[in-house]
Amino acid sequence: KIGMIAENLGYNVYAVGGFVRDLLLRQENLDIDLVVEGDGITLAKKLQKEINAHIHTYQKFGTAVVILPDGFRLDIATARTEYYEFPGALPKVEMSSLKLDLYRRDFTINALAIKLNPKQFGLLLDFFGAQRDLKERMIRVLYNLSFVEDPTRILRAVRFEQRFGFRISKQTLDLIRQALKLNLLFQTTGSRIWHELKCIFGETNPAAIIERLNELSVLKSLHPALKWDKSLKKLFKEIEAVLSWFELLFLEEKYVKEEVYLLGLLDPLKEEEVNSFLTVLEFPKSKKELFFKKRREIFNIYGLWQKKREIKPSLVYLTIKEIPLEFVLYLMAKLSPAKKKWLSLYFTQWRDIKPILTGDDLKAMGLKPGPIFRTILEELLKARLDGKVKTEEDEKKLVKKI
Ligand code: ATP
Repeated sequence: KIGMIAENLGYNVYAVGGFVRDLLLRQENLDIDLVVEGDGITLAKKLQKEINAHIHTYQKFGTAVVILPDGFRLDIATARTEYYEFPGALPKVEMSSLKLDLYRRDFTINALAIKLNPKQFGLLLDFFGAQRDLKERMIRVLYNLSFVEDPTRILRAVRFEQRFGFRISKQTLDLIRQALKLNLLFQTTGSRIWHELKCIFGETNPAAIIERLNELSVLKSLHPALKWDKSLKKLFKEIEAVLSWFELLFLEEKYVKEEVYLLGLLDPLKEEEVNSFLTVLEFPKSKKELFFKKRREIFNIYGLWQKKREIKPSLVYLTIKEIPLEFVLYLMAKLSPAKKKWLSLYFTQWRDIKPILTGDDLKAMGLKPGPIFRTILEELLKARLDGKVKTEEDEKKLVKKI
């Protein structure tokens, strides 16, 4: 249908990038990127009219996001012919606008296109040997200056390599090494690096990617204090286990997985080192300060709990309840199995416990509402958590004592 609509406008339209790659690898991918030879925004507007899609357009870039009536999302980009300025191009290149668009991409395997116009529907366009690289399981850049043009591709190369179990080609590895030698990684913005790090932490096996980044000396180029060793490997394993446990139990509860892994990666760093790294990543000041405050709290709790053999449920409850979930999960990953149990009980039981008596009951008992209510209810909760009260009568007795 989209092909037909484009055809009627006199445009060519192609599915490109990760979607095509994953189709050939027989992996699911629900994000479809389209490239239009024509005007992407006009096509998006036509789709809005003809199939009742929702659209957001970005005039400046000639791009649009289209949400189809069934919720499916399409990203539409316009292939323009004036894209010669990239450094890898020869001075006089003659390419179709699609080919130019694909040439600007990161790796051969992401530079495939499938035509969607009705007459040639399904035609696979492979200008750069992507099918060969998919067969040979290779990550290869499209031109030698690729990493100079965009150093975040170094992180992307390793991410795709580990995700698919591919190898980065020898020449591409040499180009990565050269780029690192020239210290190019931060020629780009810190927020783009953070974006790629988040993508890494969002993968199924971030540990393998970080390990490989370390092996290629990318990690220490990101920050000299970053390293990968046995204990970090163990921590990442623990984080993975804690996160899958948590997801199984609490499907509806949202947390930012990437932040838990970030905490993991920064675990061995001193505070000044964390500070300088987060500054490099362009974390806003307020976010950075909150991060420190909570990280410090976690380190304190960890230190205290290391010394304890047992703990009252009410203490776990009061210590943890104001701490963001990501930090609690990170703490859980750090703790020994016996102490992990404290937090698993907190999640599965303790945090849902409430006293039987409510504020209304206190009023009915003749107490005057005021700040004291909070104190009483908190004491009741503590007593209940620690098993000191069982029945409503027990609670009433305790109220009288307080
Ligand atoms: P994923 O499965 O992780 O979503 P993807 O290949 O779809 O993988 P995206 O980050 O969504 O990755 O990017 C979509 C497409 O845009 C890629 O396939 C690639 O062709 C291109 N692309 C993304 N980032 C870059 C970059 N830094 N340099 C060049 N091309 C890029």
